[in-house]
Amino acid sequence: MKRYQMLVNGSWINSSSEETFYSINPFNQKPWAEIPQATSVDIEEAIGAARKAFEITWSQTNGYTRANLLFKLADLIDKNAERLAILESTDNGKVIRETKNQMHFAARNFRFFAGFADKLQGETIPLDNLNLFDYTLREPLGVTVLISAWNSPIQTLTNKLAPALAAGNTVVIKPSEHTSVTTLELGKLIEEAGFPKGIVNIVTGDGKVGALLTQSQSVNKISFTGGPSTGKIIAENASKNLIPCTLELGGKSPNIIFEDAHMKNAVTGAIAGIFGASGQTCIAGSRLLVQNKVYDEVVTNLAKRASEIVLGDPLNPDTQMGPVANLVQFERILSMIGKGNDEGAQIIVGGKKAEKEGLSDGFFILPTVAANVNNNMKIAQEEIFGPVLSVIPFEDEDEAIHIANSSEYGLASGVWTRNISRAHKMAKKLNAGTVWINTYRTSAAQAPFGGVKNSGYGKERGLHALLEYTQIKNVMIDL
Ligand code: NAD
Repeated sequence: MKRYQMLVNGSWINSSSEETFYSINPFNQKPWAEIPQATSVDIEEAIGAARKAFEITWSQTNGYTRANLLFKLADLIDKNAERLAILESTDNGKVIRETKNQMHFAARNFRFFAGFADKLQGETIPLDNLNLFDYTLREPLGVTVLISAWNSPIQTLTNKLAPALAAGNTVVIKPSEHTSVTTLELGKLIEEAGFPKGIVNIVTGDGKVGALLTQSQSVNKISFTGGPSTGKIIAENASKNLIPCTLELGGKSPNIIFEDAHMKNAVTGAIAGIFGASGQTCIAGSRLLVQNKVYDEVVTNLAKRASEIVLGDPLNPDTQMGPVANLVQFERILSMIGKGNDEGAQIIVGGKKAEKEGLSDGFFILPTVAANVNNNMKIAQEEIFGPVLSVIPFEDEDEAIHIANSSEYGLASGVWTRNISRAHKMAKKLNAGTVWINTYRTSAAQAPFGGVKNSGYGKERGLHALLEYTQIKNVMIDL
């Protein structure tokens, strides 16, 4: 059993109550890592350390030095990618190919923001009165709290951590209680890279720890990835303390195939869009809208491709889909499939626990395709966060837009068409933070990412994300 400690003010510490909990491997349901449950004392200490480090060290460190530390950290992540990927796949069941890619993406993220650390500049502003000289300073916010989800622990965290540090903020991190290991391992790399103490603090534990962190009056910004109900509580806490927050929440994203699409690519995009990470991504293309003329053809192809997906040990490089991450997820997904069945959706493939030999100890659910889904059904409206694709027919562009936008969510969307003018019209009308055209689930460190409606607000990645960790001060001088 691996035993972990928390990183507070440059020291590795146990919980002040000595309380711990276990991380469970979803492939075999065995506890494999022991993690401290932080107390209010630990949390206050972490926030205090971040405050002191901000005032004494980090805000006095120039951008070039910050950049070099971030570049060093990126190199260390790349160097340790395989080891970190094994730990993350053990923690959340995601296949090793994906977790390894995510480690390299994290390194890329740090390099992208490192490049900006010494280029954050203000502007001079011409005024009516020529005897006045006016300029702005772009400054960090201070202590930021970063709370992440279990499905992509390092990727969702580094989307926040890299811009926060590049802009000169200090941080207190809380990973999901289901997947704390790689975040704590990242803490060791942060030390190895040479970051001074207190700049990055990591406390672990359940939602109570997140609640205490986000209620604190000594924090200057919150960035959160998780479900919409938790997001709303966090937004309320942030509003009480009048601090900004970034909320990366859930989704029920429409992936739309028109009859003029390149069919093979579109079906591949639909399959990768939902079954990647066992459907446990916020951007999962969980509602597949297919134009009537090609509906039957697409459904037949989908059923074939979904039934060929190889399930197995996430650490085996040949495995294409791992288990879902935990028991709560497992039971919820099966119950949502049951609701779909009751509402009249036609489950044409999957729809149950996988029974293949070697999978019985894990939380495996077969890749599931539900046809003839109506957009009003629960299976089409609620985020399932599992390998369940709802296929909805439509007649024309207007109907596709109406169905796509009839959702409480607005995180991502996809359009498959060879008609360029249709592609641009759809991009304009879709109510979502991201529109992919003839691709799906493709990410880039430079491209801003974030949702609308119940999918949250604020941006991660790209220059916009960096600016969200800064504030502008105006300086006016009478010459
Ligand atoms: P969750 O909201 O249950 O938990 C997320 C984090 O919040 C965890 O660290 C948890 O401990 C913490 N938390 C729980 N209660 C809290 C409280 N009252 N105050 C502060 N923190 C609290 O979500 P989850 O089950 O871990 O993740 C799944 C959700 O995350 C899905 O809805 C998914 O779509 C979303 N997600 C979004 C993105 C994105 O970038 N938009 C990425 C990944 C996951």
